[in-house]
Order: sequence, then C-alpha cells, then structure tokens
Amino acid sequence: MRFVARLVVVAVVLFAAPVHAQTATGFAPPVESSIQSVIPRMIAWRRDFHQHPELSYEEVRTARIVAQHLRSLRLEVRTGVAQTGVVGVLRGARPGPVIALRADMDALPVTEEVDLPFRSRARGRYNGQDVGIMHACGHDTHVAVLMAAASVLAARRNEIAGTIIFVFQPSEEGAPPGGMGGARRMLAENVFGDLQPEAIFGLHAWPAPSGTVTMIPGPFMAGSDRIDITVTGSQTHGAQPHAGIDPIVASSQIINALQTVPSRQMDAVRSPVIVTIGMIQGGVRYNIIPQTVQMQGTIRYLNPDTRADLYARIRRTVTETAAATGATAEVTITENAIPTVNPPALMARTRAAVARSLGEEAVLSGLPVMPAEDFAYFQQAVPGVFFFYGVNPPGVSAAEAAPNHNPRFFVHEPAMETALRAMLAIALDRVGGGA
Ligand SMILES: [Zn+2]
Ligand SMILES: [Zn+2]
Repeated sequence: MRFVARLVVVAVVLFAAPVHAQTATGFAPPVESSIQSVIPRMIAWRRDFHQHPELSYEEVRTARIVAQHLRSLRLEVRTGVAQTGVVGVLRGARPGPVIALRADMDALPVTEEVDLPFRSRARGRYNGQDVGIMHACGHDTHVAVLMAAASVLAARRNEIAGTIIFVFQPSEEGAPPGGMGGARRMLAENVFGDLQPEAIFGLHAWPAPSGTVTMIPGPFMAGSDRIDITVTGSQTHGAQPHAGIDPIVASSQIINALQTVPSRQMDAVRSPVIVTIGMIQGGVRYNIIPQTVQMQGTIRYLNPDTRADLYARIRRTVTETAAATGATAEVTITENAIPTVNPPALMARTRAAVARSLGEEAVLSGLPVMPAEDFAYFQQAVPGVFFFYGVNPPGVSAAEAAPNHNPRFFVHEPAMETALRAMLAIALDRVGGGA
C-alpha cells in the first residue's frame, strides 16, 4: 500500500512539476530554470560569507567577491563607493525605468555559538577590544540573494526594458563615531551616478516563518538616535551629602523621569517611543559622592513628524529633573538612523507583485518594529520599499528563535529562495522580462 502510494506521488510529481512550478511562481520557464540553477551557488556564497564575516567598512573580501561576480555577468561595476561598497549596473536591451536593489554586507562583533560546518571563527578589533565576528544579522544572506538575483536578471538582459542598479552597501550596523553609516555615505558619494532610480528595494532576514515575507505600508522600522547625558553635581563625603550635590541620585531620578516621555508625554498610538539608558558610569569609591555621572542610551521612535517635539521633551525632562536636585545636566542627541517608512502606493504595487509570485498566503502583514535600518536614507533620496523575509526553521516560533544580533541567530537556508523570488518578482514587475 505504501509502495503504491509512493508510486502515485512520484507520477504526480513527474507529470505535474513543470505546470506546478509555473503557476506557483508566475515566472517564465527560462527565469524559473535560471532560478533553479543559481540556488546551489547562492547557498555556497552565503556559507562562504558566513564563514568569513567582516565588520563595518572592513568588507574587503566580501566586496571583492561581489565585484568579481558582477563583472562575470558583464555588469558595469564600481567599487570603493563608501570605502568598501560595490555598485553594479545592468542595462536591459530596451529603454525603461531605472530601479535599484540593495543588500548590506557587514557583520557584527558577536562570537558565533551556532554549531555549523561553516560557522565563523573570525576575530577582529572593535572599539579597542578583541572580538569574535559573526553574521548575526543575516547580511551574509542578503549579499548572496542579491548576487543570485543579479545572475538571473543578467540572463534576461535581452528581454529587460530598463536598468537595474545593484547596491552592495557597507556598514549598515551603525555609523562609526563621528562618521557616516554606509547608506548615507553611499548617497554622499553619488551611488547612483547619472542614473535616477524611480524606486529602490531592500530586504532583511527576520525571525518569522521561512517561506514568508512581511510587508507593511507606512512606518515599518524605527528612527534610532543616541543620547549622551552628563550629570554634574558637587563631590562630597558619602556621610555628608548636604555638603555637595549628588549626581548619582539625580541620575536615578533622570532615568525614571525619562520613562515618562514615552508613557506620559507622547501620544502612545501616534508616536510610539522607547528611551533606553544602556550605560551608566559614575563614582570610584563606596563612600564618595562623585562629581559627575555619564549615561548613554538609545531613543527609538516611529513617527518622523514628532521627532522635534520628542527631543524637546527629552531635553527638558533631563535638564529640569537635574535642576530640581541642584545638579546640572548636559544632553547630546546624535542621529543614527531615521525611520524606515514604506510609501503606501509603492508598497501596494510591490506587495501585489510578490503575492503573484509567492502566493497570497506567503505575504504577511503585521506591526512595525523598533530596530532601525539605514535603508531609510535611501528612501529619503528615492521612493523605496523595505521588507522582511522569514528565516525560522519549520516548527520554530518567533518566540523560540534567537533574535538578530544574538550569538545563536540562525537562518534556515531554504528561506533564501523565498527572498530571491521576492526580489525577482519586484524587479521583473518594473522592468519586464519575467513572463
Ligand atoms: Zn543588525
Ligand atoms: Zn541588519
């Protein structure tokens, strides 16, 4: 019985496969066959990048492999854009719109704990410390997916009406002190050359079911800025606080008061905000009230329109709370990333193209999240859509999966095919050559 059943299954698969593939993907047979042939290479690229991760603005090896690949596809290639960034231009045989597809390339100072044959053992220097390096945010998969998309699209060059710019961006994971992050710097260095894309698209690995993408119109990822606070009191004996001004007690009040900015001062629905103090430092000895306390933190917000008001409230809350104790506080807010906002009309068309290719059930909606993405700066220059692709293995829920930046962050590799198909559906919807 089982044997007969298996025969039937084999027969169904054999005879139904080509038809099934076409209706399930919406891609023309030549596109479908080049997808199939590029998948093993995409996985191999990803494993190689995973094993050789590079920190922000140090993506030399990654950039070299990307540039070699793009040249092998006969794209026009520029290297050294924003130090280690790579740009490839694919011109279709016929005129048409210009679009851009973006992948970020950098890894993180995280020591990998996932037991993989291609696990990273790389080490490097970060902030003066010896650190492990890991693709703990999945950027290795972004690079491999975009390289694979370039392969498939380059093979369709004669059918394509338009131009596709492939943007391989360095340093997404936060700007270096005093410097610019990769997206801003690529824009400052004229990433698009003489071309003016009508739209740009980017994706990110995210702990959601593999085989799905998450597409949300409007605010999608938060603005992220850094806050530095110095509280200055007056140093005194721990037994004679009245003879000085205690910046530690002042700081504890400031930290608590800052929590009233999201919970009491901003509109919780229109302007969700997070204020996190992640570092506090003050004092050298148990019985001395110190002169100063330093704090560092991050501010996250979703609504760009309320940013100025938010910052005014944060400054006022910090300085006036300090003043109430007799201390003074100095507040510095440094822009790190603006919110990632998907224009609704562009998102609707993009979503429809992906749903036609992956199936309606594979396209999830949901709520915005508070991590940030410097893709937002591309969106400031060019209308752009950013979306997630799920990387959880089957049976692993979002709650069980290790989050991005965790040493156990894990990508279920078959999910990369979904990411590739989504990118191709988006591109071919714009420049043709897909059907
Ligand atoms: Zn990240
Ligand atoms: Zn990332």
